[in-house]
Amino acid sequence: MYELLRQACDAARKAGCTFADARYLEIDEQSLASRDRALAHHGESSDRGVGVRVLLQGAWGFALAPGYDAEAVDSAVATALEIARASAHAPRDGGVGWADETTWQAEFRSDCVQDPFTVSLEDKADLLLAANEVMLQNPAIKRAQGYLAFRRLRRWYVNTEGSELHSDVTSASAMLWAVAVGDGDFQQRCWQAPSVTRGFEAFDRARFVAEAERVAAEAEEKLTAAPAPEGNFDIVTDSENLSLTIHESVGHATELDRVMGYEVSMAGGSFVSRDKLDRFRYGSDQVTLMADNTLQHGLATHGFDDDGVPGQRWPIVEDGILRGYSTGREFAHYVGEQRSRGSCRADHWSSIPIVRIPNLFLMPGKQPLTPDELIGDIDHGLYFEGMDSFSIDQWRLNFQFGGNAVWEIRNGRKTRMLKAALYQSSTPEFWNACDATCDERFWQAHGVTNCGKGDPLQVAQMTHGAAPTRFRGIRICRGRD
Ligand SMILES: [Zn+2]
Repeated sequence: MYELLRQACDAARKAGCTFADARYLEIDEQSLASRDRALAHHGESSDRGVGVRVLLQGAWGFALAPGYDAEAVDSAVATALEIARASAHAPRDGGVGWADETTWQAEFRSDCVQDPFTVSLEDKADLLLAANEVMLQNPAIKRAQGYLAFRRLRRWYVNTEGSELHSDVTSASAMLWAVAVGDGDFQQRCWQAPSVTRGFEAFDRARFVAEAERVAAEAEEKLTAAPAPEGNFDIVTDSENLSLTIHESVGHATELDRVMGYEVSMAGGSFVSRDKLDRFRYGSDQVTLMADNTLQHGLATHGFDDDGVPGQRWPIVEDGILRGYSTGREFAHYVGEQRSRGSCRADHWSSIPIVRIPNLFLMPGKQPLTPDELIGDIDHGLYFEGMDSFSIDQWRLNFQFGGNAVWEIRNGRKTRMLKAALYQSSTPEFWNACDATCDERFWQAHGVTNCGKGDPLQVAQMTHGAAPTRFRGIRICRGRD
């Protein structure tokens, strides 16, 4: 599939471009949703096309061609050149600082034992309906729902530097949720299977049934949960809960394009200005946040990014100190780096690549520490599990996060369930309050599948993760019941 892409790059080179690349994508998606004892939705889509990007006279041009058609690709190159020539009339100071990169010829294929697109619809529906049936056996549950989604993304990439790259990535995600009704109230509890780049083998029927039973029981328990206390408390977050906090307060805050103001009109800015690199205390010495686009089964692990740069692993925060940003080839020079971190991705063949959050996780603690020991050292606190409502400001500084289930900790033990608890803090205050995280035996990954950024909006996926982690003296307030 490289032929038309090579032709596009040759045409751009002849037109005087200092750089150009072309990507052909085949995107296949399938989703299923269940409601109570029936399948409520089944959707499939298949989409193919080429995106051409050119750098001419220090300005970008981008155009697209649906399908894989020579004439359409020629016309896309012409349009991209025209856009670049027009953009060159309003040059950016110093043009585009484009980081060098080695020429690569490579292929990447994600682990996929059982291709989800060859698994029958009946088998997929059976997984969801079996889980719904278990949830509905609990008399308090008045609605049971499930969702499965699969995606296969095949990509061919060529640039004027001679790189030719291919990736074939299959991902799977799933969710179950139960709504309990009673005492003039309703409450929802959900389970999100860790989204991963794996095939249908990622899903296990016995696990779905077990999670369904737990989710239903906890939705029922939420109906009679006590209102959360307010004030300052020690808190423990589970892996899924902290994944969202990592995403919002570290992931977005350290995207270098955002730091440079490129996203101000839509996604916002960042408080993590460049003068903070290698000196700012982001968190306590317990906090090491690692970016890793080589993480096995990570949603941002695609072998290489849409600038033609291989996936890498680098620290964003190391022992509490800010050590790095997420970059693409256009942004590396802003922090004096010679090479891109390989974190520039487009969500579709018709989208221009932008800096995206990599797979990013809190490293597990170095000393052996179990969740029981972590909680055991708290007199009165709260335990947050799962994702719920959240809010964070445009500078990624002040925030509040809820949990899908929250328990009170009394005298070192998890006790009754609480409702409407939110933790409220500012990014450096929160991460500096971290005094312990459990060891690697308790570390888990969680995917984010709907990260929005850019204008027009692009939706990207990446994986986060953590072990259960403790934060001291965090302000708790009460949200909606
Ligand atoms: Zn996001």
